[in-house]
Amino acid sequence: MTVQHRVLLGIGVSAGTAYGPIAVVSPPPGIDPDEPATTDVEAATEIVSDALEQVAVMLLDRAERAPEKGQPILQATAKMARDRGLKKGIVKELKRGSGLTRAISDAIQKYVDMFTQLGGYMAERATDLYDVRDRAIAVVRNVPMPGIPELKEPSIIVARDLAPVETATLDPKLALGIAIEEGGPTSHTAILAAQLGIPAVVRVGNIVDYAISAQAEATTMALDGGVGEVIIAPTQGDVDLLAERSQRREAALAGSHGVGLTRDGHKVALLANIGTADDAERAAAYDVEGSGLFRTEFLFLGRESAPSVEEQTKVYTKVFQEFGRRRVTVRTLDAGADKPLKFADLGEEENPALGRRGIRLTRIREDLLDDQLAALAAAQQATAADVRVMAPMVATMEEAQWFADKARAAGLSSVGIMIEVPAAAINASTLLSIVDFASIGTNDLAQYTMAADRMQGELAGLLDVWQPAILRMIKLACQGGTATGKYVGVCGEAGGDPLLALVLTGLGVQSLSMAPSKVDAVRASLRLHDLSTCQQMAAFALDALTAKDARAAVEALVHPDVKYLM
Ligand code: PEP
Ligand code: MG
Repeated sequence: MTVQHRVLLGIGVSAGTAYGPIAVVSPPPGIDPDEPATTDVEAATEIVSDALEQVAVMLLDRAERAPEKGQPILQATAKMARDRGLKKGIVKELKRGSGLTRAISDAIQKYVDMFTQLGGYMAERATDLYDVRDRAIAVVRNVPMPGIPELKEPSIIVARDLAPVETATLDPKLALGIAIEEGGPTSHTAILAAQLGIPAVVRVGNIVDYAISAQAEATTMALDGGVGEVIIAPTQGDVDLLAERSQRREAALAGSHGVGLTRDGHKVALLANIGTADDAERAAAYDVEGSGLFRTEFLFLGRESAPSVEEQTKVYTKVFQEFGRRRVTVRTLDAGADKPLKFADLGEEENPALGRRGIRLTRIREDLLDDQLAALAAAQQATAADVRVMAPMVATMEEAQWFADKARAAGLSSVGIMIEVPAAAINASTLLSIVDFASIGTNDLAQYTMAADRMQGELAGLLDVWQPAILRMIKLACQGGTATGKYVGVCGEAGGDPLLALVLTGLGVQSLSMAPSKVDAVRASLRLHDLSTCQQMAAFALDALTAKDARAAVEALVHPDVKYLM
């Protein structure tokens, strides 16, 4: 039977095109259905410890040979394999009588559940833990390691999901592209693929089954990581079209460097989103004007107690140093809801996303904010960076005033708020009369405007920033900026979209902060359009009746090369 020509659509997460043979990743080994229950806990503990150690050594060995960008992830996964708490969890399962592989699997699942409860960035660490599980089980069962087969020729990698550890070790000369069934636009795999410059598409339905039959017949595959298209058994016409798109993308990106400017010279600062000191180091190496969002809560999550002022000062100093004299916009602790803190637990809440999160939590636990501001001020003193601080989830004038007073008293002179709650967008001019700037968090602003949980994949259509209601909220925030003469930026995911970036600019947004790998395409897109065109696009999008119409209205005005940047 000949494999049919088939075009599948997923989500493009790393732009670029690929064409070549298929390499399907081996599935994980799973629990041994025939294993006996554990009777000798001591002997079983030794086997498990040995397996985990082998996994750690294996990962560290790969880290040494991995491209530089992949090394920290491999090292972090190796560290998980050596985590004492994890081992303790497995021993607990063994003591209950579970067989070796069942004990590994159950204990790791409990860890994953804990991470998943933390949500967002932490939830995505689940893939790393599953990777440790599968490797340890493969060692115990003495079966081949799950993962990418050794590539004999440049190929397109197809998998149900790809662990960051696997993505990190890919050689971009041999891995032409990546197509996976699961994953998400903010998963580590997607981020890494973009950093390695490997075109990638996630959430491609049934791709593994199609790829297995195609591989059996030595059929090729093609993909476009920008538009999110995967083609099984492509025709010569498909291949030529993709090659042409690829050349056009390179040509469109060729001159993309320097500050963010529209074609007629209107400035839009292009900034990086970061969460850790390591992120800062990576991001600072990109052609970015600084950081527009440093999510500091990642220093606090998963800890039994808050980091001391000294510990925080050290981290902030390192982050600021990485950026030299460039700006670093620090968001103070945004905990609660999907990011609970053990040491600031305010009790169960019926609707945590509508509960005491962000600034609401620090108003109750003032000590946490005081320490953080003291550390930020000390780090600012010690470095040359242009430090700005902003508070998350601000909804009222009192909150803005409270935060601004505290930050200024601590010695921080550039003080802002995030606009993530509709109340803040509606009252932007009042709030901006108190602070120096605002940054729109489009992820939460979409969630609260549409009353749609951002963690719920099925609601993606409602959370689409092209929704006219969300665009109108952003407009209100920008009008507040104009009325007060204060600047308004965007730091949600929308800022990294080359098309939405134009609309946001037209609405009056003055800075866009995003994953650093997305900056070149956004810069190139801006340079192709005059400010007046962006304003026209914004007006059309605002007038549209649906998200689809809004996008279509903008696409009608866009420079034809923008499609090569997506
Ligand atoms: C946002 O809500 O858009 C934002 C940038 O903050 P976070 O994604 O961390 O909630
Ligand atoms: Mg937010």
